[in-house]
Amino acid sequence: MSHLTENFARPEKPEEVVTYGSLDPSVQELLRAAFDVRQRAYVPYSGFKVGAAFRAKATGQIFTGCNVENAAFTPCSCAERTALTKAVSEGATEFSVGAVLAYEPDAFTTPCGVCRQFIREFATDDIPIYIAQAIDARIGSEEPLRSEDPVLCTSIFNLLPSSFRTYRK
Ligand SMILES: [Zn+2]
Repeated sequence: MSHLTENFARPEKPEEVVTYGSLDPSVQELLRAAFDVRQRAYVPYSGFKVGAAFRAKATGQIFTGCNVENAAFTPCSCAERTALTKAVSEGATEFSVGAVLAYEPDAFTTPCGVCRQFIREFATDDIPIYIAQAIDARIGSEEPLRSEDPVLCTSIFNLLPSSFRTYRK
């Protein structure tokens, strides 16, 4: 092992799947915020709605975002980048935790490669990222996420190990 790899991003904990009910209330709040903002997704082309939420490290404030598509396709913004761009533009550049919600029947929807790099820019540490499924039939209900729902607990270093970052001082 070379010293040149010592500072590489390595996950602190392996990924695991837990239930929504076992999560800290502050994480549940973050997931619900992502569920709510997902309903505003602008997806006339794919119909695939995604919601994301990040909690600012300094203030605890939650910043949310949905995906925003475009007829020209290239300018599309994912939910994660929408949320982080909103946060940075309001002065938050460090985050303690993130959440992403979408719905695929047979898999958790994890951030795309571009978003993993975008999140990494604002994650000095291995911040946890929680991934859950959003059930459209529960929109408007008091319990959009339920105690037995599975949640993937991952982290930015799990999602993007050995990642590129700026080595600014
Ligand atoms: Zn993305």
